[in-house]
Amino acid sequence: MTKLTDLTITEALHGLNDKKFSAAELTEAHISAVEKARGLNIFITETPDGARRQAQESDARRASGKAGALDGIPLAIKDLYCTKGVRTTAASKILGNFVPTYESTVSQKLFDAGSVMLGKVNLDEFAMGSGGVTSAFNPTISPWSGSDPANAARKLVPGGSSSGSAASVAARIAMGATGTDTGGSIRQPASVTGIVGIKPTYGRCSRWGIIAFASSLDQAGPMTRDVADAALMLRVMAGFDEKDSTSVDVPVPDYVAALGKSIKGLKVGLPREYRIDGINPEVDALWHKSAEMLREAGAEVVDISLPHTKYALPVYYIIAPAEASSNLARYDGVRFGLRVAGENLDDMYASTRFAGFGKEVRRRILIGTYVLSAGYYDAYYRKAQRVRRLIRNDFVEAFKKCDVILTPASPGTAFAIGEKQDDPLQMYLEDVFTVTLNLAGLPGICLPVGLAQNGLPMGMQLIGRAFDEETLFTAASALEKAAKFTHKPPFTA
Ligand code: GLN
Repeated sequence: MTKLTDLTITEALHGLNDKKFSAAELTEAHISAVEKARGLNIFITETPDGARRQAQESDARRASGKAGALDGIPLAIKDLYCTKGVRTTAASKILGNFVPTYESTVSQKLFDAGSVMLGKVNLDEFAMGSGGVTSAFNPTISPWSGSDPANAARKLVPGGSSSGSAASVAARIAMGATGTDTGGSIRQPASVTGIVGIKPTYGRCSRWGIIAFASSLDQAGPMTRDVADAALMLRVMAGFDEKDSTSVDVPVPDYVAALGKSIKGLKVGLPREYRIDGINPEVDALWHKSAEMLREAGAEVVDISLPHTKYALPVYYIIAPAEASSNLARYDGVRFGLRVAGENLDDMYASTRFAGFGKEVRRRILIGTYVLSAGYYDAYYRKAQRVRRLIRNDFVEAFKKCDVILTPASPGTAFAIGEKQDDPLQMYLEDVFTVTLNLAGLPGICLPVGLAQNGLPMGMQLIGRAFDEETLFTAASALEKAAKFTHKPPFTA
């Protein structure tokens, strides 16, 4: 029989229903995997006792015929989701001892559906980064490290900010994970670790109880080993929540039913502006090969234009820090987490924030405060909001000509820990293909399509119309079927 940790969620649910194994056994196999993989620094907090208890309760539910949609499935939760009674750090020193008294809506929904939490996983501090390297708890190491014989000793990043989520799923430590995506943090790590990740439409999942980075861009989403598992998880995670005023009250379709449908006649747009300088030529080639695969499956490939693409990163790096500087003002040494004593109140604030925030977070707060300050607000922030509107309009026009848009997910394969760290602009470029969607509020799914010469995975992104995740799942399942990506990282637990 396949190892329990190798099963997809869909397969595990069948196994549980057919009594081939219990949720307790499935969880125990994953707890061992967590221990075996400690060298990768994936978990900030392991919760094996809670996992065992949840698994037992799951077995009892299944025995009495009351199993939920994800009953008994062991998951990793990004340490940006507040979990009741379990330390939640955002990978920051400032929240290093914070234990929430409430549960985020999305994690609650996952637990209500029966899933089991293995623990809280690493990320870039406050989700600011693309490599997991800004974490105050040290970087997560990709299970793909060592796959390139020419560079066997280099430790690679699993992408970011959802670094622990991506690494845990790729290394067969968790069956699925939650991620968050403000500019690419689900899709870029999915791309560089060879897994599937979807950022749903803004408003599809509740942000309540997820530590805020940039509130008009943040979205929750699942990270899994295949498209079907992402459909299963998103169905549970999505839905209206009155506690989040930006959550949208529309029905959540059965995404699993969208899988495997014909894509005959589906119009797939290729944006000409996404042929950028600095893209890895292998990624570019795979992009066109992916379009060919969709064409062979019955789709029609059309050329489209997203003319304001070149402004997306600059706009993002005005809006996201502006919102972050406001959201992070609450960490003042009084209400949450760390406090460093000072001579007076101002000094206490300053000392706490200096000790508690890492370099990248401080950089963002400074940029954000600057672009929001009197005199610069019009020149930067207001202008950025106008260009954001133009970027959104580009998509409105494009979706008159096509049903989904196909693009690479990230410009290259995984980079090494230490690389790009001293060059924020290089790091920011990681999200050149993903940030536009956050600015426009649109859904995007990333799935693995091929391996580069260096043995590392490359993912593609499909972009859809707002609240049309179903078409994304249909198209992604067609591309997944054609691509037949079955590669595993050199390290699996
Ligand atoms: N890499 C981007 C940033 O650093 C996006 C992060 C995210 O989506 N949370 O802001």
